[in-house]
Amino acid sequence: INPGNVDIITSAVKPEHYPETGLKEIALSGRSNVGKSSFINAMCGRKGVARTSSKPGKTITLNFYNADNKFVFVDVPGYGYAKQSKSEREKWGAMIEGYLTKRETLTCVVQLVDLRHPPTADDISMYDFLKYYEMPVIVVATKADKIARGKIQKHISVIKKELEMEPEDQIFAFSSLDKRNLPEIMTALQKFV
Ligand code: GDP
Repeated sequence: INPGNVDIITSAVKPEHYPETGLKEIALSGRSNVGKSSFINAMCGRKGVARTSSKPGKTITLNFYNADNKFVFVDVPGYGYAKQSKSEREKWGAMIEGYLTKRETLTCVVQLVDLRHPPTADDISMYDFLKYYEMPVIVVATKADKIARGKIQKHISVIKKELEMEPEDQIFAFSSLDKRNLPEIMTALQKFV
């Protein structure tokens, strides 16, 4: 992706507002604070593309970005935010469910999890949900710089096992500090655009 050619297309809360670009879409999902914005910035090769950590009270929207006219990526608002109210959670659920299950141009979801910890219940629910709808998933395990080199494979195995990952889905350790595996992740995504 040419970093100079990544732009937000629109923020949407309902299908009528989703953009029609003719490009394939890749969604990025993960719990709040997992490092999704940092990953998006790394993927785009520059800072400030995605806003970091959405604050409570902010409108929950799906944000669509044109990635160098090659594909569209969609920043799905983070789940599991502690201070989310019940009504906010319900709104989030309805919007995400509708988008993930009905969007025909969506070909793959990048699910971000924290490499340091086993997946949360929300992480597992999200993966199960995506698999129920037969959505290809690429798991990106963030904050790998916080784990000793020799222990990374062990953490990867725990995530694979706890998510009961399908063999065709790939998982990559990632760090926004050193950007490890970014080329491999981009190559994996290429198949879906
Ligand atoms: P988001 O809420 O999922 O968009 O997460 P952010 O990208 O805003 O990151 C949340 C916090 O984790 C911030 O303080 C980031 O600086 C930090 N962070 C994100 N990715 C990494 C990483 O790969 N390594 C480390 N050490 N910190 C990270």
